Amino acid sequence: MRRTVVLCYHMVSATYEHRLSISPQLLLRQVRLLTRFARVRASFDDAFRSAAAVFPALERRGVPVQIFVCTGYARDGSPLTIPEFEGDDPEQLATMTWEELRAHAERGVEIGSHGIAHAHLTRLSDADLHRELGESKAEIEDVLGRRCPDLAYPYGEHDERVRAAARAAGYERAYGLRERGHDAYALRRVDLYRRHAPFGALLRLYA
Ligand SMILES: [Zn+2]
Repeated sequence: MRRTVVLCYHMVSATYEHRLSISPQLLLRQVRLLTRFARVRASFDDAFRSAAAVFPALERRGVPVQIFVCTGYARDGSPLTIPEFEGDDPEQLATMTWEELRAHAERGVEIGSHGIAHAHLTRLSDADLHRELGESKAEIEDVLGRRCPDLAYPYGEHDERVRAAARAAGYERAYGLRERGHDAYALRRVDLYRRHAPFGALLRLYA
């Protein structure tokens, strides 16, 4: 049986030359090549509005799509204003509103949690950590009326305490990045960027 690979993307734009932005053409070429070697799922962190441009093409290829949303931004789809994006074009950082997320969910896109505020979870107090994980899950479930069993750690950062908190918050699984092993709370995703030509993306699958 072919293995399943979960890819991790962020912004999608033909023109925006940000390290976390990839052109739709390259993304689809990566996915097309990888689907010859593995079952591919495509996940999009931070719920950037621009990502939706490739959803129809992915769905036509039978590639399941998942969005990991930071709930603190979804009320008005405001730009993701984290220190790491300081000075970047706020228009490109616009995120999806609940209304948009609901529309995607109704078309079969899965909505997972990426916390509330894109925090560095390992640095939070116990109380803040539980709030980030618990309240984001509850809000997704309340607003969208669907279960939210999946979490993606912001920055892929986690440790034993964070993994235990994810389990305690009721998640069934949680994704990091480029993990090894079979911990349901440290699942592997392969993050791909504009610098990965399709063959480079394939190599990364096996890295
Ligand atoms: Zn993120």
